[in-house]
Amino acid sequence: MAGVTDTYFREQLEKRKDQLNAVLASTAAPAAPKAPLVALLCEVDSALQRLADGSFGICTQCHAPVETDRLLADPLTQLCLDDLNSDEQRALERDLELAARVQRGLLPNTDTRHQDWLVHYQYKPAGMVSGDYCDVISSPTENGEMFFLLGDVAGKGVAASLLMSHLHAMFRSLAGVGLPLDNLMEVANSVFCQSTIAGQFATLICGRAGQRGEIEINSAGHLAALHVSKSGVRKIYSTGLPLGMFSTSRYTVERIKLERGDSLLLYTDGLSEAMDASGTEYGTERLSNLVRERHGCAPQDLATACMKEVTAHRGAGKQLDDQTLMVVHRGSFASSSAND
Ligand SMILES: [Zn+2]
Repeated sequence: MAGVTDTYFREQLEKRKDQLNAVLASTAAPAAPKAPLVALLCEVDSALQRLADGSFGICTQCHAPVETDRLLADPLTQLCLDDLNSDEQRALERDLELAARVQRGLLPNTDTRHQDWLVHYQYKPAGMVSGDYCDVISSPTENGEMFFLLGDVAGKGVAASLLMSHLHAMFRSLAGVGLPLDNLMEVANSVFCQSTIAGQFATLICGRAGQRGEIEINSAGHLAALHVSKSGVRKIYSTGLPLGMFSTSRYTVERIKLERGDSLLLYTDGLSEAMDASGTEYGTERLSNLVRERHGCAPQDLATACMKEVTAHRGAGKQLDDQTLMVVHRGSFASSSAND
């Protein structure tokens, strides 16, 4: 385990030790079942000992490293996945199924209609849980704006999915505060820095759509968004650093306008970096060419066409990374709330 991560595990274990000691000290009744707590305290102590002698995170059976996301979830784990017995494996699968269900519950509706805006997204985890983040938050008031968010937490599996739910809660709270977008991102970054494990970060695009087709975009190190208009495709590049890197990061807002029929496409690297059998990545250029031909397309059709092409590019190969695609489309239908 890397040095920074060791510090994190030590802190976590010390915290558990203090809590156990506190509970043991406060259990007044003599018949209280102290034995399991004492046993747990011994396990915590021996994990701290393993950290001290450098054997922490090494499987006691095969001496291979234990999976990091499993250690993050339970620092007392001493066996790698392959060395769990069948009961333990089944228990783990049940936990994962539950985590997946919790995560699905955090996703917004696949299709959102807000004033002139239509938002559609497709979310395809590589495993049971995903580190991709996506949300649509529309203000309940008549003149309200709509936030759309898409991000990618470094890593995969349970640890990444925990961070994804953290992002979800944070932006849901911040969206209602009424901060300017650059400020909102700065606050989000600072909170994220304070609450995540050292070395974990997320790239993310946070957008805010107004009533006349105007969109503000703030990107924390995420892949370029694609603005599909009549005149072609414009890439909107990130000017900021990923969330969780430096607590003092600053973010700048890019302003664009979507005419009726225009779309804005956001995606995670699971799409752009999908590889064919020869190791060639699908790439943003191909994605850009595909959407250029489809100006005015309904958001569902556009998203489906992209996913289909990426899947065709991958061929028989396995999906290696989480894939998320979001289309923010300005409808070409007439609306009383907009006059252009
Ligand atoms: Zn092992």
